[in-house]
Amino acid sequence: MAENRMMRYEEEIPDREYFVAPRHARRRRRVSWKLLLLCAVLFLSGLLLGRALAAEVDMEGGYRAGGTSAGAGPVQAIAPVAEQKKDTEEWQLLLVNRDHLLSEDYKIHEMTKLRGGHSVDSRIYPDLQKMMDDARAEGLQPLICSSYRTWDKQEELFQRKVSYYLRQGCDRQEAEEKASAWVARPGTSEHQAGLAVDIVDVAYQVLDEQQEQTEVQQWLMEHCAEYGFILRYPTDKSELTGVSYEPWHYRYVGKEAARELTEQGLCLEEYLSGQSVVLF
Ligand SMILES: [Zn+2]
Repeated sequence: MAENRMMRYEEEIPDREYFVAPRHARRRRRVSWKLLLLCAVLFLSGLLLGRALAAEVDMEGGYRAGGTSAGAGPVQAIAPVAEQKKDTEEWQLLLVNRDHLLSEDYKIHEMTKLRGGHSVDSRIYPDLQKMMDDARAEGLQPLICSSYRTWDKQEELFQRKVSYYLRQGCDRQEAEEKASAWVARPGTSEHQAGLAVDIVDVAYQVLDEQQEQTEVQQWLMEHCAEYGFILRYPTDKSELTGVSYEPWHYRYVGKEAARELTEQGLCLEEYLSGQSVVLF
């Protein structure tokens, strides 16, 4: 039937129209253009939608890089993992200590404000929040008592400690040396980078070695690495870190580094010196 119609149709076409286009051909070509246009629109829509979804996943991936493992699978499968890793290595393994000072013009990353006037680098916030939530779910009462500090604030804290030792009879150099064992000199504190928090137990808010006996610290020391944090100044690493034991100062380094540091019993200085990471 189709062949017959086609033949009949061809026969009915006036000669002049052959040079333009047979009607059936024109109709089919119009259909083809419509199809092509539809395909192009669908393709472009798909492309734009795909890119939008990828961007969304990427943002979530940034959070989940150190966040819940539940969402890590599909994110890692789609997001550019290599780029994420490179990016995280650059910021979360930042070494700040007496030999590696932050410059005064160090650019603080976007900050997230916390209760009590505190704030931290937004990139560590999701894991910090999760750690605090999980600790509370265990019936504990952790309290962040220090977080991001400006250069001026660090200077003020340091000078206050220096004044204390001056009153004890030390000369200035001696006072500054003693003070630096307790309060980081300006430029040498991780608090200035927004990557560290001091956490205490509500029931015991004194910053001394007894803090390690509290339920909050016992829990944090055991679990902080699961959230990408390390106890930055352990009791047996003071010579390497240059800071006295602080069983309240937690530094974010990311889950992978936190796990390795913890498993190998290393402080950050040891960990980084064994890696091909550019020290700041
Ligand atoms: Zn601290």
